[in-house]
Amino acid sequence: MGPLPSRAEVVIIGGGIIGVSIAYYLAKKGAGKVVLLERGIMGEGSTGKCAGGIRTQFSTEINIRFSLLSLKVFEGFQAEFGVDPEFHPVGYLFLAAHERQWQVLNANAQLMQTMGLGVELLDPDEIRRRWPFLRVDDLLGGSYTKGDGYAGPYEVLQGFAKGARRLGAMLREGTEVTGIQVKKGRVQAVEVATGERVVTPVVINAAGPYAGQVAAMVGLDLPVRPVRRQLFFTDPFQELPSCFPLVIDLEHGWYMRREGEGLLLAGPQDAESSFNERVDFEAQEWTAARSLHRVPILERARIVRGWAGLYDISPDHHAIVGPFPEIRGFICANGFSGHGFQHSPAVGILVAELIAEGQAKTIDIYPLRPQRFREGDLIYEPLTAFRD
Ligand SMILES: Cc1cc2nc3c(=O)[nH]c(=O)nc-3n(C[C@H](O)[C@H](O)[C@H](O)COP(=O)(O)OP(=O)(O)OC[C@H]3O[C@@H](n4cnc5c(N)ncnc54)[C@H](O)[C@@H]3O)c2cc1C
Repeated sequence: MGPLPSRAEVVIIGGGIIGVSIAYYLAKKGAGKVVLLERGIMGEGSTGKCAGGIRTQFSTEINIRFSLLSLKVFEGFQAEFGVDPEFHPVGYLFLAAHERQWQVLNANAQLMQTMGLGVELLDPDEIRRRWPFLRVDDLLGGSYTKGDGYAGPYEVLQGFAKGARRLGAMLREGTEVTGIQVKKGRVQAVEVATGERVVTPVVINAAGPYAGQVAAMVGLDLPVRPVRRQLFFTDPFQELPSCFPLVIDLEHGWYMRREGEGLLLAGPQDAESSFNERVDFEAQEWTAARSLHRVPILERARIVRGWAGLYDISPDHHAIVGPFPEIRGFICANGFSGHGFQHSPAVGILVAELIAEGQAKTIDIYPLRPQRFREGDLIYEPLTAFRD
């Protein structure tokens, strides 16, 4: 590993999917020397633990716009990056067991339809007709989008990273940022654990669940909570079709999709914030109970392993993207609340526009500004894969 450059136009802190996407789109815009610093190995954070879900079903226009912009990138990924993103457009099926959830799905469908997007509201009989393995007697209905699905977080990360390097960005692993120097309300430089320092006018916080710690380096309060989520995997299971939608039970935030010949089953998320990433025995019990409730035939499936990762949750479950007014040059791309993988292409494109052109042009990101919390101008997203 050679020395760090003494200066850069932009330094990105964090080598997860958000950091590498921003590095790629900045390099593509010819934004000068771009340096990404990752303290461990790229992708070892939330990105490597993610379920890879990609959907257009959201409750707010800005989230849907982020999805549409990103979907275009996923669809053309192989051609642009020379890497197969393993995108499986199997569809997404949200299930509502209570009136409140059913209202959310109806309101979403209405919003999506006004935006010209396809979404089907299905009654329980229709759900059973299409996917007979699902228990429907406690449901009011579901909403289904057939072009959604899931992709491989590792493959997408590799595509962005290779692309960014090809265009001249420096992506450095094993390099922890320990401090950010600020003078007269302006970012000056970042300091790393080895004692090296990179002078830069722009620092991007892409530290995922650790974003609050990075913001604290410049004395800012960024309300991003790390929350553990566990996932489990089964042995090959042939008693379900080889292809079916990613199914989410809104009531408990449980979900399921194919993972090769086996299944990926969502485990619980913690009520409290922490950086704990251990897998618990009780979590496996919760997962088995929720899975059997919705898909009784899973009685014959066998959970073989599990893992845990951290969500980076913001108070209104929307991303926090943009500069803080009090520190010039400090830009956040945080708080993705369980949808950072699927929105990473849009975030990269928009943050690159913000830095290179002074403004995000493709989508107006004003609603996502960091100071909205203290201004009390929140935009709530109820359609998440977790309950809190
Ligand atoms: C179980 C689970 C399932 C999920 N499923 C989905 C899904 O289906 N679809 C979806 O869209 N999203 C999903 N998500 C959310 C998604 O994984 C995240 O939103 C996304 O990965 C965030 O990417 P990131 O780059 O911001 O964070 P990370 O991937 O966590 O990257 C941040 C990086 O910053 C580094 N870092 C931190 N501090 C420093 C420092 N001081 N110096 C240098 N480096 C530092 C860390 O080592 C880390 O690698 C899921 C998350 C979890 C936990």
